[in-house]
Amino acid sequence: MRQTLIVLLAISLIVLFIFGFPILKKWQRQRIKQRHFPPLWQAIIENNVPIYLALNPQERRRLQGHIQVFLAEKQFIGCQGLQVTLEMKVTIAAVACLLLLNERGTYFPKLQSILIYPNTYFVKEVTSNDGYVVEETQVARLGESWNRDQLVLSWEQVQRDTQNWEDGHNVILHEFAHQLDQEDGRAEGVPILLQKSDYQFWSKVMLREYQNLCLKVEKGMKTTLDYYGATNPAEFFAVATETFFEKPRQLRKKHPELYEQLQRYYQLDPVQWI
Ligand SMILES: [Zn+2]
Repeated sequence: MRQTLIVLLAISLIVLFIFGFPILKKWQRQRIKQRHFPPLWQAIIENNVPIYLALNPQERRRLQGHIQVFLAEKQFIGCQGLQVTLEMKVTIAAVACLLLLNERGTYFPKLQSILIYPNTYFVKEVTSNDGYVVEETQVARLGESWNRDQLVLSWEQVQRDTQNWEDGHNVILHEFAHQLDQEDGRAEGVPILLQKSDYQFWSKVMLREYQNLCLKVEKGMKTTLDYYGATNPAEFFAVATETFFEKPRQLRKKHPELYEQLQRYYQLDPVQWI
């Protein structure tokens, strides 16, 4: 009898945790979003993220709520002696949360910390040739997001990218797009889509666009999407995301189907902000 009661209690607690935790999390986030948005944060965003001024009042309020949740949940770590400032945190959060603007509501669930380097950083890359010759090289990086619970950014690059919004390059959008891509555990250029029926068309359009880009890169032709997108399908999605937010008009004109897929995925139409 006692054993049965213990088992029943354990099952009840597990059920309560499984179903109660998401509800509690949602409730907590709602409370965070209702907090007053600090004027200093607002000033930082207006100064560092010019696209913010193009959003309508509802979008701005929604973005503010996402930023509040993001900053409450993520940890920032300065590297190579860098002191993380409020300006860094708010700027990174504002751009990253643009990707969540229309209530994606997932807040990059696997990501725990954002590592910030003062400028370009170097990592050791080990390559082996037929398993016999092992080469170790120092490779310069501006950002990366291959470790799912950590994302790395160069502050110097963040500043450059946020101030030059319409050049199609943005390390924050790029690395956080990788986070979205990896939410299902795989980095293959297919994030979690709204409906099951969306996958087939997404794969068809993305593959065609990726192959077209690879072909143009091979021929050295001019492209709207950065050449780096031809590296692999995961990089293609990250580069397409940068272009979607920063050069929406060109992307819609030259690649209407790709634009449409991204518009459906992000539930946004950045052309309206330009
Ligand atoms: Zn990348």
